[in-house]
Amino acid sequence: LSEKLQNALGKLKGKGKLSEKDVNDAMREVKLALLEADVNFKVVKDFISKVKDRCVGQDVMESLTPGQHVIKIVNEELTSLMGTVQSRISFASKPPTIIMLVGLQGAGKTTTGGKLAGYLKKHQSKRPLLVACDIYRPAAIKQLQVVGSKLDIPVFDMGDKQNPVDIAKAGIEHAIKKGNDLVIIDTAGRLHIDEDLMNELKDVKREVKPHEILLVIDAMTGQDAVNVAENFNEALGVDGIILTKLDGDTRGGAALSVRAVTHKPIKFIGMGEKLDDLEPFHPDRMASRILGMGDVLSLIERAQDAIDLKKAKEMEDRIKSQHFTFEDFLDQLEQVKKLGPLNELIGMIPGLGNAKELKDVDFNDKELVKIQAIIQSMTRKERNNPAILNASRKRRIANGSGTKVQDVNRLLKQFEQTKKMMKQFADMEKGMKKGGKLK
Ligand code: GDP
Ligand code: MG
Repeated sequence: LSEKLQNALGKLKGKGKLSEKDVNDAMREVKLALLEADVNFKVVKDFISKVKDRCVGQDVMESLTPGQHVIKIVNEELTSLMGTVQSRISFASKPPTIIMLVGLQGAGKTTTGGKLAGYLKKHQSKRPLLVACDIYRPAAIKQLQVVGSKLDIPVFDMGDKQNPVDIAKAGIEHAIKKGNDLVIIDTAGRLHIDEDLMNELKDVKREVKPHEILLVIDAMTGQDAVNVAENFNEALGVDGIILTKLDGDTRGGAALSVRAVTHKPIKFIGMGEKLDDLEPFHPDRMASRILGMGDVLSLIERAQDAIDLKKAKEMEDRIKSQHFTFEDFLDQLEQVKKLGPLNELIGMIPGLGNAKELKDVDFNDKELVKIQAIIQSMTRKERNNPAILNASRKRRIANGSGTKVQDVNRLLKQFEQTKKMMKQFADMEKGMKKGGKLK
Protein backbone atom coordinates (compact mmCIF):
# COMPACT_ATOMS: atom_id res chain seq x y z
CA LEU A 1 0.00 0.00 0.00
CA SER A 2 2.60 2.50 1.02
CA GLU A 3 4.50 2.24 -2.24
CA LYS A 4 1.36 3.02 -4.21
CA LEU A 5 0.52 5.95 -1.99
CA GLN A 6 4.01 7.28 -2.21
CA ASN A 7 3.85 7.16 -5.96
CA ALA A 8 0.53 8.93 -6.05
CA LEU A 9 1.68 11.63 -3.68
CA GLY A 10 5.22 11.73 -4.93
CA LYS A 11 4.03 13.39 -8.10
CA LEU A 12 2.73 16.29 -6.07
CA LYS A 13 5.81 16.70 -3.97
CA GLY A 14 7.95 18.69 -6.33
CA LYS A 15 5.21 20.93 -7.61
CA GLY A 16 5.35 24.61 -6.87
CA LYS A 17 1.71 25.16 -7.60
CA LEU A 18 -1.19 22.76 -7.73
CA SER A 19 -4.23 22.93 -9.90
CA GLU A 20 -7.48 21.34 -8.89
CA LYS A 21 -6.73 18.76 -11.53
CA ASP A 22 -3.45 17.86 -9.82
CA VAL A 23 -5.32 17.22 -6.59
CA ASN A 24 -8.01 15.24 -8.34
CA ASP A 25 -5.48 13.10 -10.17
CA ALA A 26 -3.57 12.40 -7.00
CA MET A 27 -6.75 11.55 -5.12
CA ARG A 28 -7.83 9.14 -7.82
CA GLU A 29 -4.57 7.30 -7.39
CA VAL A 30 -4.80 7.39 -3.62
CA LYS A 31 -8.28 5.94 -3.96
CA LEU A 32 -7.08 3.11 -6.17
CA ALA A 33 -4.21 2.38 -3.85
CA LEU A 34 -6.55 2.13 -0.88
CA LEU A 35 -9.06 -0.04 -2.72
CA GLU A 36 -6.31 -2.29 -3.90
CA ALA A 37 -5.09 -2.57 -0.34
CA ASP A 38 -8.49 -3.97 0.53
CA VAL A 39 -9.72 -0.99 2.41
CA ASN A 40 -13.48 -1.04 2.64
CA PHE A 41 -15.14 0.79 -0.25
CA LYS A 42 -17.26 3.07 1.87
CA VAL A 43 -14.32 3.96 4.06
CA VAL A 44 -12.31 4.91 0.99
CA LYS A 45 -15.10 7.07 -0.37
CA ASP A 46 -15.51 9.01 2.86
CA PHE A 47 -11.80 9.36 3.22
CA ILE A 48 -11.23 10.75 -0.25
CA SER A 49 -14.06 13.21 0.01
CA LYS A 50 -12.76 14.50 3.34
CA VAL A 51 -9.25 14.93 2.02
CA LYS A 52 -10.49 16.60 -1.15
CA ASP A 53 -12.63 19.03 0.79
CA ARG A 54 -9.70 20.04 2.91
CA CYS A 55 -7.36 20.32 -0.06
CA VAL A 56 -9.66 22.38 -2.20
CA GLY A 57 -11.32 24.40 0.52
CA GLN A 58 -8.17 25.64 2.13
CA ASP A 59 -5.48 27.76 0.64
CA VAL A 60 -3.41 24.69 -0.10
CA MET A 61 -2.96 25.77 -3.66
CA GLU A 62 -1.41 29.05 -2.72
CA SER A 63 0.82 27.57 -0.04
CA LEU A 64 4.52 27.50 -0.77
CA THR A 65 4.72 23.74 -0.71
CA PRO A 66 1.28 22.62 -1.78
CA GLY A 67 2.41 19.06 -2.40
CA GLN A 68 3.67 18.71 1.14
CA HIS A 69 0.48 20.26 2.38
CA VAL A 70 -1.62 17.65 0.64
CA ILE A 71 0.57 14.89 2.05
CA LYS A 72 0.13 16.38 5.48
CA ILE A 73 -3.64 16.36 5.08
CA VAL A 74 -3.63 12.77 3.85
CA ASN A 75 -1.47 11.83 6.81
CA GLU A 76 -3.77 13.56 9.28
CA GLU A 77 -6.89 12.02 7.82
CA LEU A 78 -5.30 8.57 7.81
CA THR A 79 -4.48 9.06 11.46
CA SER A 80 -7.96 10.14 12.39
CA LEU A 81 -9.35 7.21 10.44
CA MET A 82 -7.45 4.91 12.73
CA GLY A 83 -8.34 6.65 15.94
CA THR A 84 -6.21 9.73 16.67
CA VAL A 85 -4.98 8.65 20.09
CA GLN A 86 -3.52 5.51 21.53
CA SER A 87 -6.03 3.36 23.44
CA ARG A 88 -5.13 1.45 26.53
CA ILE A 89 -6.57 -1.46 28.42
CA SER A 90 -8.85 -0.19 31.17
CA PHE A 91 -8.32 -2.07 34.39
CA ALA A 92 -11.07 -2.83 36.87
CA SER A 93 -11.14 -0.73 40.01
CA LYS A 94 -11.71 -3.94 41.90
CA PRO A 95 -9.36 -6.66 40.63
CA PRO A 96 -9.17 -9.00 38.93
CA THR A 97 -9.60 -7.33 35.58
CA ILE A 98 -11.17 -9.83 33.22
CA ILE A 99 -10.24 -9.73 29.57
CA MET A 100 -11.96 -12.02 27.10
CA LEU A 101 -10.36 -12.68 23.74
CA VAL A 102 -12.65 -13.55 20.86
CA GLY A 103 -12.15 -14.09 17.15
CA LEU A 104 -12.08 -16.61 14.36
CA GLN A 105 -9.97 -19.73 14.47
CA GLY A 106 -6.39 -19.01 13.58
CA ALA A 107 -6.73 -15.27 14.15
CA GLY A 108 -4.14 -15.48 16.88
CA LYS A 109 -6.19 -15.49 20.11
CA THR A 110 -4.12 -18.02 22.00
CA THR A 111 -0.80 -16.51 20.98
CA THR A 112 -2.08 -13.01 21.63
CA GLY A 113 -3.42 -14.03 25.03
CA GLY A 114 0.10 -15.02 25.99
CA LYS A 115 1.63 -11.93 24.44
CA LEU A 116 -0.82 -9.65 26.19
CA ALA A 117 -0.31 -11.35 29.54
CA GLY A 118 3.43 -11.04 29.09
CA TYR A 119 3.18 -7.42 28.04
CA LEU A 120 1.00 -6.37 30.96
CA LYS A 121 3.14 -8.32 33.37
CA LYS A 122 6.27 -6.61 32.12
CA HIS A 123 5.00 -3.08 31.59
CA GLN A 124 2.22 -2.76 34.17
CA SER A 125 3.39 -5.24 36.79
CA LYS A 126 0.22 -7.29 36.53
CA ARG A 127 -0.06 -10.84 37.81
CA PRO A 128 -1.99 -12.51 35.00
CA LEU A 129 -3.77 -15.84 34.87
CA LEU A 130 -4.53 -17.38 31.49
CA VAL A 131 -7.76 -19.39 31.32
CA ALA A 132 -8.19 -22.08 28.66
CA CYS A 133 -11.77 -22.02 27.38
CA ASP A 134 -11.15 -23.44 23.92
CA ILE A 135 -12.37 -26.99 24.42
CA TYR A 136 -12.78 -27.79 20.74
CA ARG A 137 -9.58 -27.29 18.88
CA PRO A 138 -7.33 -30.29 19.43
CA ALA A 139 -4.39 -29.45 21.66
CA ALA A 140 -5.67 -25.91 22.26
CA ILE A 141 -5.20 -26.31 26.01
CA LYS A 142 -1.73 -27.69 25.57
CA GLN A 143 -0.87 -24.76 23.31
CA LEU A 144 -1.88 -22.27 25.98
CA GLN A 145 0.07 -24.20 28.59
CA VAL A 146 3.19 -24.03 26.44
CA VAL A 147 2.71 -20.29 25.95
CA GLY A 148 2.19 -19.81 29.68
CA SER A 149 5.24 -21.79 30.67
CA LYS A 150 7.46 -19.85 28.27
CA LEU A 151 6.34 -16.62 29.93
CA ASP A 152 6.22 -18.04 33.41
CA ILE A 153 2.52 -17.18 33.64
CA PRO A 154 0.04 -19.63 35.22
CA VAL A 155 -2.60 -21.29 33.07
CA PHE A 156 -5.95 -22.51 34.41
CA ASP A 157 -7.76 -25.33 32.65
CA MET A 158 -10.36 -28.00 33.35
CA GLY A 159 -9.67 -30.22 30.38
CA ASP A 160 -12.08 -30.32 27.46
CA LYS A 161 -15.05 -31.97 29.12
CA GLN A 162 -16.50 -28.96 30.93
CA ASN A 163 -18.34 -26.13 29.26
CA PRO A 164 -16.56 -22.81 28.69
CA VAL A 165 -18.83 -20.84 31.03
CA ASP A 166 -18.00 -23.09 33.97
CA ILE A 167 -14.31 -23.04 33.14
CA ALA A 168 -14.25 -19.26 32.92
CA LYS A 169 -16.09 -18.88 36.24
CA ALA A 170 -13.83 -21.38 37.97
CA GLY A 171 -10.81 -19.64 36.46
CA ILE A 172 -11.85 -16.34 37.99
CA GLU A 173 -12.43 -17.99 41.38
CA HIS A 174 -8.98 -19.48 41.08
CA ALA A 175 -7.47 -16.07 40.25
CA ILE A 176 -9.08 -14.47 43.28
CA LYS A 177 -7.80 -17.22 45.50
CA LYS A 178 -4.28 -17.01 44.11
CA GLY A 179 -4.10 -13.23 44.00
CA ASN A 180 -3.98 -12.84 40.22
CA ASP A 181 -5.20 -9.34 39.38
CA LEU A 182 -5.67 -10.05 35.69
CA VAL A 183 -7.57 -12.88 34.02
CA ILE A 184 -7.24 -13.43 30.30
CA ILE A 185 -9.78 -15.83 28.86
CA ASP A 186 -8.78 -17.65 25.68
CA THR A 187 -11.92 -18.72 23.85
CA ALA A 188 -12.65 -20.98 20.92
CA GLY A 189 -13.02 -19.79 17.37
CA ARG A 190 -14.55 -21.25 14.25
CA LEU A 191 -13.38 -21.02 10.71
CA HIS A 192 -16.45 -18.95 9.97
CA ILE A 193 -18.82 -16.98 12.08
CA ASP A 194 -21.62 -19.24 13.22
CA GLU A 195 -24.44 -19.03 15.67
CA ASP A 196 -23.20 -21.75 18.02
CA LEU A 197 -19.95 -19.92 18.51
CA MET A 198 -21.64 -16.59 19.10
CA ASN A 199 -24.10 -18.11 21.55
CA GLU A 200 -21.32 -19.71 23.49
CA LEU A 201 -19.41 -16.44 23.65
CA LYS A 202 -22.55 -14.58 24.66
CA ASP A 203 -23.05 -17.08 27.49
CA VAL A 204 -19.53 -16.51 28.73
CA LYS A 205 -19.99 -12.76 28.48
CA ARG A 206 -23.28 -12.84 30.41
CA GLU A 207 -21.97 -15.06 33.19
CA VAL A 208 -18.51 -13.63 33.54
CA LYS A 209 -19.04 -9.96 32.73
CA PRO A 210 -15.57 -9.28 31.35
CA HIS A 211 -14.22 -5.75 31.68
CA GLU A 212 -12.83 -5.88 28.20
CA ILE A 213 -13.84 -8.01 25.26
CA LEU A 214 -11.02 -7.78 22.77
CA LEU A 215 -11.55 -8.94 19.24
CA VAL A 216 -8.51 -10.56 17.68
CA ILE A 217 -8.36 -10.05 13.93
CA ASP A 218 -5.91 -11.40 11.40
CA ALA A 219 -4.75 -8.36 9.42
CA MET A 220 -3.90 -10.55 6.47
CA THR A 221 -7.55 -11.33 5.83
CA GLY A 222 -8.05 -7.89 4.32
CA GLN A 223 -11.62 -7.09 3.41
CA ASP A 224 -12.90 -10.06 5.36
CA ALA A 225 -11.57 -8.49 8.53
CA VAL A 226 -14.25 -5.84 8.29
CA ASN A 227 -17.09 -8.36 8.09
CA VAL A 228 -15.68 -10.31 10.98
CA ALA A 229 -15.32 -7.17 13.06
CA GLU A 230 -18.86 -6.05 12.31
CA ASN A 231 -20.33 -9.44 13.14
CA PHE A 232 -18.53 -9.90 16.42
CA ASN A 233 -19.21 -6.34 17.43
CA GLU A 234 -22.92 -6.65 16.74
CA ALA A 235 -23.22 -9.91 18.61
CA LEU A 236 -20.99 -9.18 21.58
CA GLY A 237 -20.21 -5.50 21.69
CA VAL A 238 -16.43 -5.56 21.71
CA ASP A 239 -14.36 -2.97 23.55
CA GLY A 240 -11.33 -3.01 21.36
CA ILE A 241 -9.45 -4.76 18.62
CA ILE A 242 -6.09 -6.46 18.40
CA LEU A 243 -4.78 -6.76 14.88
CA THR A 244 -2.40 -9.66 14.42
CA LYS A 245 0.09 -10.61 11.73
CA LEU A 246 0.86 -7.07 10.70
CA ASP A 247 4.39 -8.30 10.19
CA GLY A 248 3.24 -10.44 7.31
CA ASP A 249 2.62 -9.42 3.77
CA THR A 250 -0.33 -7.27 4.69
CA ARG A 251 -1.52 -4.47 2.59
CA GLY A 252 -2.56 -2.51 5.62
CA GLY A 253 -6.16 -2.24 4.57
CA ALA A 254 -7.54 -3.96 7.62
CA ALA A 255 -6.07 -1.45 10.03
CA LEU A 256 -7.67 1.34 8.07
CA SER A 257 -11.07 -0.25 7.81
CA VAL A 258 -11.87 -2.00 11.06
CA ARG A 259 -11.70 1.05 13.22
CA ALA A 260 -13.66 3.18 10.76
CA VAL A 261 -16.40 0.60 10.43
CA THR A 262 -16.76 -0.51 14.05
CA HIS A 263 -15.71 2.71 15.79
CA LYS A 264 -13.83 0.49 18.21
CA PRO A 265 -10.21 1.30 18.94
CA ILE A 266 -7.32 -0.88 17.87
CA LYS A 267 -5.43 -1.40 21.11
CA PHE A 268 -2.54 -3.60 20.16
CA ILE A 269 -0.89 -5.02 17.09
CA GLY A 270 0.81 -8.36 16.65
CA MET A 271 4.10 -8.07 14.84
CA GLY A 272 5.38 -11.63 14.75
CA GLU A 273 5.13 -15.14 16.10
CA LYS A 274 7.37 -14.59 19.09
CA LEU A 275 5.75 -13.89 22.42
CA ASP A 276 7.17 -10.40 22.74
CA ASP A 277 5.99 -9.34 19.29
CA LEU A 278 3.11 -7.26 20.58
CA GLU A 279 3.04 -3.48 20.45
CA PRO A 280 0.55 -0.83 21.51
CA PHE A 281 -1.18 0.61 18.47
CA HIS A 282 -0.32 4.20 17.60
CA PRO A 283 -2.62 5.58 14.88
CA ASP A 284 -0.26 8.37 13.93
CA ARG A 285 2.67 6.03 13.53
CA MET A 286 0.59 3.61 11.52
CA ALA A 287 -0.47 6.44 9.23
CA SER A 288 3.16 7.42 8.70
CA ARG A 289 4.06 3.83 8.07
CA ILE A 290 1.33 3.50 5.50
CA LEU A 291 2.47 6.69 3.89
CA GLY A 292 5.92 5.18 3.74
CA MET A 293 7.61 7.66 5.97
CA GLY A 294 8.86 4.97 8.20
CA ASP A 295 8.21 4.39 11.80
CA VAL A 296 11.09 5.92 13.64
CA LEU A 297 9.26 5.99 16.93
CA SER A 298 8.40 2.29 16.99
CA LEU A 299 11.94 1.57 16.01
CA ILE A 300 13.20 3.68 18.87
CA GLU A 301 10.87 2.01 21.31
CA ARG A 302 12.07 -1.36 20.27
CA ALA A 303 15.58 -0.10 20.50
CA GLN A 304 15.00 0.99 24.04
CA ASP A 305 14.28 -2.53 25.10
CA ALA A 306 17.51 -3.78 23.57
CA ILE A 307 19.78 -0.79 23.88
CA ASP A 308 20.18 1.77 26.59
CA LEU A 309 18.28 5.03 26.34
CA LYS A 310 21.18 7.27 25.50
CA LYS A 311 22.29 5.04 22.67
CA ALA A 312 18.72 4.96 21.36
CA LYS A 313 18.47 8.73 21.30
CA GLU A 314 21.76 8.94 19.47
CA MET A 315 20.50 6.40 17.03
CA GLU A 316 17.36 8.39 16.39
CA ASP A 317 19.39 11.50 15.69
CA ARG A 318 21.67 9.66 13.36
CA ILE A 319 18.93 7.96 11.48
CA LYS A 320 17.22 11.29 11.02
CA SER A 321 20.40 13.12 10.19
CA GLN A 322 21.91 13.03 6.76
CA HIS A 323 25.36 13.48 8.26
CA PHE A 324 26.06 9.98 9.37
CA THR A 325 29.34 8.45 8.40
CA PHE A 326 30.73 4.96 8.09
CA GLU A 327 32.04 5.47 11.59
CA ASP A 328 28.47 5.84 12.88
CA PHE A 329 27.36 3.07 10.64
CA LEU A 330 29.82 0.62 12.12
CA ASP A 331 28.96 1.75 15.61
CA GLN A 332 25.35 0.98 14.93
CA LEU A 333 25.78 -2.38 13.32
CA GLU A 334 26.45 -4.01 16.66
CA GLN A 335 23.44 -2.37 18.28
CA VAL A 336 21.22 -3.05 15.34
CA LYS A 337 22.06 -6.73 15.41
CA LYS A 338 20.44 -6.95 18.83
CA LEU A 339 17.17 -5.60 17.55
CA GLY A 340 15.97 -8.50 15.50
CA PRO A 341 15.48 -9.44 11.88
CA LEU A 342 17.10 -6.82 9.75
CA ASN A 343 14.48 -6.83 7.02
CA GLU A 344 11.87 -5.84 9.54
CA LEU A 345 13.96 -2.97 10.84
CA ILE A 346 14.74 -1.66 7.40
CA GLY A 347 11.02 -1.33 6.81
CA MET A 348 10.74 1.03 9.74
CA ILE A 349 13.46 3.38 8.65
CA PRO A 350 12.11 6.39 6.82
CA GLY A 351 12.68 6.23 3.12
CA LEU A 352 14.32 2.86 3.25
CA GLY A 353 11.33 0.60 3.55
CA ASN A 354 10.36 0.94 -0.04
CA ALA A 355 13.68 1.75 -1.58
CA LYS A 356 13.95 -0.22 -4.77
CA GLU A 357 17.71 -0.18 -4.50
CA LEU A 358 17.49 -2.16 -1.31
CA LYS A 359 14.94 -4.68 -2.48
CA ASP A 360 17.53 -7.05 -3.87
CA VAL A 361 20.00 -6.67 -1.07
CA ASP A 362 20.05 -9.65 1.15
CA PHE A 363 20.04 -8.33 4.69
CA ASN A 364 21.26 -11.43 6.38
CA ASP A 365 23.89 -11.82 9.00
CA LYS A 366 26.51 -12.89 6.47
CA GLU A 367 26.02 -9.64 4.64
CA LEU A 368 26.38 -7.80 7.91
CA VAL A 369 29.64 -9.48 8.73
CA LYS A 370 30.96 -8.54 5.32
CA ILE A 371 29.90 -4.92 5.67
CA GLN A 372 31.45 -4.81 9.07
CA ALA A 373 34.72 -6.22 7.79
CA ILE A 374 34.88 -3.69 4.98
CA ILE A 375 34.25 -0.74 7.25
CA GLN A 376 36.74 -2.04 9.74
CA SER A 377 39.37 -2.16 7.05
CA MET A 378 38.93 1.55 6.38
CA THR A 379 40.99 4.13 8.18
CA ARG A 380 39.19 6.58 10.38
CA LYS A 381 39.74 9.28 7.81
CA GLU A 382 38.19 7.13 5.10
CA ARG A 383 35.20 6.31 7.24
CA ASN A 384 34.47 9.95 7.82
CA ASN A 385 35.10 10.98 4.27
CA PRO A 386 34.46 8.15 1.80
CA ALA A 387 35.06 10.57 -1.06
CA ILE A 388 38.79 10.00 -0.75
CA LEU A 389 38.43 6.33 -1.60
CA ASN A 390 40.36 5.95 -4.85
CA ALA A 391 41.12 2.71 -6.64
CA SER A 392 44.21 1.84 -4.64
CA ARG A 393 42.52 2.52 -1.32
CA LYS A 394 39.61 0.37 -2.37
CA ARG A 395 41.95 -2.45 -3.32
CA ARG A 396 43.64 -2.20 0.05
CA ILE A 397 40.28 -2.32 1.85
CA ALA A 398 39.10 -5.28 -0.20
CA ASN A 399 42.29 -7.17 0.58
CA GLY A 400 42.12 -6.26 4.23
CA SER A 401 38.54 -7.41 4.60
CA GLY A 402 38.77 -10.52 2.47
CA THR A 403 36.27 -9.13 0.00
CA LYS A 404 36.40 -7.93 -3.57
CA VAL A 405 36.65 -4.38 -4.85
CA GLN A 406 33.12 -4.84 -6.22
CA ASP A 407 31.89 -5.47 -2.69
CA VAL A 408 33.50 -2.27 -1.51
CA ASN A 409 31.99 -0.36 -4.39
CA ARG A 410 28.58 -1.80 -3.74
CA LEU A 411 28.71 -0.80 -0.11
CA LEU A 412 29.78 2.70 -1.07
CA LYS A 413 26.92 2.98 -3.49
CA GLN A 414 24.37 1.72 -1.01
CA PHE A 415 25.72 4.09 1.57
CA GLU A 416 25.39 7.08 -0.75
CA GLN A 417 21.88 6.10 -1.73
CA THR A 418 20.90 5.71 1.87
CA LYS A 419 22.29 9.11 2.70
CA LYS A 420 20.44 10.65 -0.19
CA MET A 421 17.17 9.13 0.87
CA MET A 422 17.65 10.26 4.41
CA LYS A 423 18.24 13.77 3.20
CA GLN A 424 15.07 13.63 1.15
CA PHE A 425 13.17 12.52 4.17
CA ALA A 426 14.61 15.28 6.32
CA ASP A 427 13.68 17.86 3.69
CA MET A 428 10.22 16.46 3.40
CA GLU A 429 9.73 16.65 7.12
CA LYS A 430 10.87 20.23 7.13
CA GLY A 431 8.47 20.97 4.31
CA MET A 432 5.61 19.42 6.18
CA LYS A 433 6.26 21.49 9.26
CA LYS A 434 6.34 24.59 7.14
CA GLY A 435 3.17 23.59 5.31
CA GLY A 436 1.43 23.19 8.63
CA LYS A 437 2.13 26.74 9.66
CA LEU A 438 0.82 28.18 6.45
CA LYS A 439 -2.77 27.30 7.16
P1 GDP B 1 -6.22 -18.87 17.53
O1 GDP B 1 -6.80 -20.01 16.78
O2 GDP B 1 -7.03 -17.62 17.32
O3 GDP B 1 -6.01 -19.16 18.98
O4 GDP B 1 -4.80 -18.55 16.87
P2 GDP B 1 -3.33 -18.97 17.37
O5 GDP B 1 -2.96 -18.15 18.54
O6 GDP B 1 -3.27 -20.45 17.52
O7 GDP B 1 -2.46 -18.46 16.14
C1 GDP B 1 -2.57 -19.02 14.85
C2 GDP B 1 -1.24 -18.86 14.14
O8 GDP B 1 -0.95 -17.49 13.91
C3 GDP B 1 -0.07 -19.38 14.93
O9 GDP B 1 0.79 -20.08 14.09
C4 GDP B 1 0.60 -18.13 15.47
O10 GDP B 1 1.97 -18.32 15.67
C5 GDP B 1 0.33 -17.16 14.37
N1 GDP B 1 0.34 -15.76 14.81
C6 GDP B 1 -0.39 -15.19 15.78
N2 GDP B 1 -0.13 -13.87 15.89
C7 GDP B 1 0.80 -13.59 14.94
C8 GDP B 1 1.49 -12.38 14.53
O11 GDP B 1 1.29 -11.27 15.03
N3 GDP B 1 2.37 -12.52 13.50
C9 GDP B 1 2.61 -13.73 12.90
N4 GDP B 1 3.49 -13.76 11.91
N5 GDP B 1 1.98 -14.84 13.25
C10 GDP B 1 1.10 -14.80 14.26
MG1 MG C 1 -6.57 -20.75 20.11
